[in-house]
Amino acid sequence: MARLCGSLDRSLGCRVPACDVGAPTTKHAMPLVESEAVVLRSSNFGEADKLVNFLTRGLGRLRGVAPNARRSRRRFGAALEPLSYVRVWFFEREHHHLVRLSESELIEAFYDARGQYERSLALNQIAELADLMLPEREPAERAFRLVLVTLAALKRAESVWLPLTYFQLWMVRLAGWLPALEECSRCRRPLGEEKAYVSPATGRFLCGRCRQPGMRVLSPSSRAAAAAMLALPLEKLDPAGWDRRRAAELQAYLLDVIEYHGERKLVTRELLYEKA
Ligand SMILES: [Zn+2]
Repeated sequence: MARLCGSLDRSLGCRVPACDVGAPTTKHAMPLVESEAVVLRSSNFGEADKLVNFLTRGLGRLRGVAPNARRSRRRFGAALEPLSYVRVWFFEREHHHLVRLSESELIEAFYDARGQYERSLALNQIAELADLMLPEREPAERAFRLVLVTLAALKRAESVWLPLTYFQLWMVRLAGWLPALEECSRCRRPLGEEKAYVSPATGRFLCGRCRQPGMRVLSPSSRAAAAAMLALPLEKLDPAGWDRRRAAELQAYLLDVIEYHGERKLVTRELLYEKA
């Protein structure tokens, strides 16, 4: 498997092979496109086909039809399973929103082989957030690398809570919805060791003086955790002590922001926070 990029903040350090999207062949009317991708969802479509929602490295999120994928596994094998890192070949179709998948091969499977419920939910949340937050056909290479880094971490981690929080935080950051962590968004006073008060409607942090009724509290330790996640690659963060309780406050803030901007309640949110 290709080595994953460790830091999302700078593409300079990226060790991932260059994007290989768009190698055309001449024998088809529309060029055959080859790309790395992560399958987000796949569902039955018509008599024998599958409808696949996938995030490519260079072309953003796409949806396509895999013809006859349910009858014959020859061309797609297990490479359409959700949360699989795959190489796909597909055709754009004139006047069609859906691409036509021609072939796919598995690079690495990430679905929960150990059958752990919490891990399955975390994987489902990655698919749900990528689907909700990444518009179709808008290149999102950093989000693609973030998905891969998070999937790899979830595969080896004892607990889902650090990788999942890291993923949520970076998705909010990449969407442009994260305010400066260290100051009040209104009066610009440094927050230091004070609590911040947050509102999902604006995503902003306010100090104790500027706070408004009904705002949620974000503790200095949650802000410090977020700052560390923005500064360091996931594999450099210490997972010790990262359990559901430690993640709860920061995740509640991030998921509020995502639901507000996404204009949708997240299906996986309630499930993840049900009593384990
Ligand atoms: Zn203030």
